[in-house]
Amino acid sequence: MTVEFVCEKCDHDVLVNLDEQRKVSCTKCQKEYTLIQGESLKKTDHLNQCQVCGREHLYVQKDFNPRLGIIIFVIGVLLSYHTYFISLVVATLIDAILYKVLSTVTICYHCRAVHRGFKEDPDHKGFDHELAMKLVVEEEREQKTAEQEKIAD
Ligand SMILES: [Zn+2]
Ligand SMILES: [Zn+2]
Repeated sequence: MTVEFVCEKCDHDVLVNLDEQRKVSCTKCQKEYTLIQGESLKKTDHLNQCQVCGREHLYVQKDFNPRLGIIIFVIGVLLSYHTYFISLVVATLIDAILYKVLSTVTICYHCRAVHRGFKEDPDHKGFDHELAMKLVVEEEREQKTAEQEKIAD
């Protein structure tokens, strides 16, 4: 089980292997993180909260580099004229097969932490733009209230 996230201080990628450690420090700026092991995760094995920020809004996605898919497709298009579009069919097929054999990862809506090797929660769906927008608005509101409270103090 690994979690990959972006350091909030310096934007550097941080990768943690949860089988070995729960504490990690950013290799670039040394900021320390302690990852959460939710009680429910221990009980059910299902990932139901982000291991970095602890929030419960997560979505699943194929562990697929979108750039690779595009490259395969572009090659297919470039070759299609000479191969009477057979290459286009092949490229589409390769993309489809890759998509099928690849495992899924669970990603946090809030901090974008990528969780690999966890048992997926069957309730988690693919990325939901509406929900993502709602969460952004909510977070902004929370931040504003926090700031106002600070001013009031
Ligand atoms: Zn850092
Ligand atoms: Zn998170």
